[in-house]
Amino acid sequence: MALERTLSIIKPDATRRNLTGAVNAKLEGAGLRIVAQRRVRLTTAQAEAFYAVHRERPFFRDLVTFMVSGPVVAQVLEGENAVARNREVMGATNPANAAPGTIRKEFAESIEANSVHGSDSAENAAIEIAFFFSGLDIVG
Ligand code: ATP
Ligand code: MG
Repeated sequence: MALERTLSIIKPDATRRNLTGAVNAKLEGAGLRIVAQRRVRLTTAQAEAFYAVHRERPFFRDLVTFMVSGPVVAQVLEGENAVARNREVMGATNPANAAPGTIRKEFAESIEANSVHGSDSAENAAIEIAFFFSGLDIVG
């Protein structure tokens, strides 16, 4: 299987609780390599653009407000089957349904404040990586 890249975001609930290193340990423990990483405070316009696919959903406004409530850490993860492997270590969207040992099971506060984002397909990963990083920022 080919080496793949995916976009990860450590969300404000996790940065607020100083969990960046703990989340990174989970990612690395799952065989993912952090090949780019950037801590940023998103503007409302940037958060709206990133989550534009969800703009009709009832939770969209709350989600945007949450995503700008503190710094986030955007990352490019590289590894075999990285998109699926990251989704696996993240766990289910709702931490109540997340499997033991996953990031969301251990760290998430709620279905909204669920500590991490991960791209859901290779196609979206390419779009989301380009949202945060240029090619020069990614060092494999
Ligand atoms: P992400 O896209 O952040 O990796 P996901 O793919 O597991 O998460 P999505 O369905 O894409 O879940 O939802 C995007 C984000 O919107 C979720 O991670 C969560 O923060 C928020 N969200 C999803 N469903 C709800 C809900 N019912 N109520 C509140 N917030 C929600
Ligand atoms: Mg999603």
